Amino acid sequence: MTTDATLDLSHQAQALDEADPLAALRNRFAPMPGVTAYLDGNSLGRPLVGTAEKLADFVRHDWGTRLIRSWDEQWMALPEKLGNHIARTCLGAASGQTIVAESTSIVLYKLMRAALDHRPAGRDEVIIERGNFPTDRFLLEGIAQETGCRIVWVDSGDATGATAITTTDLEPLVSPATALVVLSHVDYRSGAIADMPAITTQAHAAGALVLWDLCHSVGALDLQLDTHGVDMAVGCTYKYLCGGPGSPAFGYLAERHHGTLQQPIYGWWGAADIFAMADSYTPAPGIRQMLSGTPPVTSMLAVGDMLDLIDEAGMPALRTKSLSLTAFAVDAWRGLLQPLGVRLLSPTEADKRGSHITIGHPDFRRVTAGLWQEGVIPDFRNPDGIRLGLSPLSTSHREVLDGVTAIARHLAA
Ligand SMILES: *Cc1c(COP(=O)(O)O)cnc(C)c1O
Repeated sequence: MTTDATLDLSHQAQALDEADPLAALRNRFAPMPGVTAYLDGNSLGRPLVGTAEKLADFVRHDWGTRLIRSWDEQWMALPEKLGNHIARTCLGAASGQTIVAESTSIVLYKLMRAALDHRPAGRDEVIIERGNFPTDRFLLEGIAQETGCRIVWVDSGDATGATAITTTDLEPLVSPATALVVLSHVDYRSGAIADMPAITTQAHAAGALVLWDLCHSVGALDLQLDTHGVDMAVGCTYKYLCGGPGSPAFGYLAERHHGTLQQPIYGWWGAADIFAMADSYTPAPGIRQMLSGTPPVTSMLAVGDMLDLIDEAGMPALRTKSLSLTAFAVDAWRGLLQPLGVRLLSPTEADKRGSHITIGHPDFRRVTAGLWQEGVIPDFRNPDGIRLGLSPLSTSHREVLDGVTAIARHLAA
């Protein structure tokens, strides 16, 4: 690594941070003593200072003093209220179509089953990308057995894996036999963005439904689910929405499908009248039908705080910051890591990326172990990838450079 390159990048980082209109919001996140660069905000977002206070107050007051009364006073409505907030702030979706329920895996299961249980006769195929996140693929394997559907795998035409699935990849596979297409919007490995409007239109033209996994999109990209005619979507709240470990996922089901697509896990929370204690199940008419049992109230509180912060920043400004962070990370890779033989495993064009980039080198398992010890925290991806997740509101350009510089130092050691 040349000193010139380092110095140049250092000046750049400083200039970019000084010009960053969202820089002051970084102070809203809880301090992280001993950590110099947190580059895994797309696996587990950092907590807000306000969340720590809110949770302490919650234990004392809403839970500790209001006790069971809090269910009536606020918690019963929380899954829909928070769902609507996510929809408004992040999804470009009208209210009444999004609800916060269980983990991403369970919400995925419910939505995929809802689509397939109610598929038209003769549509027995589900298309899913071979490179999709394991839980998405595993769930579908089980669902295919349960429903008698057949899985059709789609591969990216680009062998480097740095390109998302395209309509060209899907063209030979989408047919009158297709019931459902399940794709990630932002690839969890490369960060490549799939063309949501074009693919949704393509699936609809063939009479199929689409389910988008938004785990690596929500809170990082400006989404427009209603405008693009998306049928179903699911997304994490513990990544860019900072809900904390295990905070529940949201599910989106377009209003036109309410009453026809019914999820399979019947429970009292999804019933028409939760307190009727009826003899048998009648589903609630709206999005509440997606619920099954008592939701995890505590971890929903943190999500609300992060949504407030995103509202304050504004989604377009947040995306601008995200683009700046990944572009700077690529510059730093080019200056400091490419000369050491590190490969870029993400799209080179900024607008084709979500908020993370992945780089590859055979020594990265060893390097990551060393980095974690010294408080530089990226994500290691088997077999030789390091993922730099750049959470737009909590990450600085300086942090990106510190992380990349540390990677270069460990590689050279
Ligand atoms: C993080 C992630 C999940 C996580 O599922 P959980 O049920 O919350 O463990 C699922 N799908 C994708 C694409 C993810 O990135």
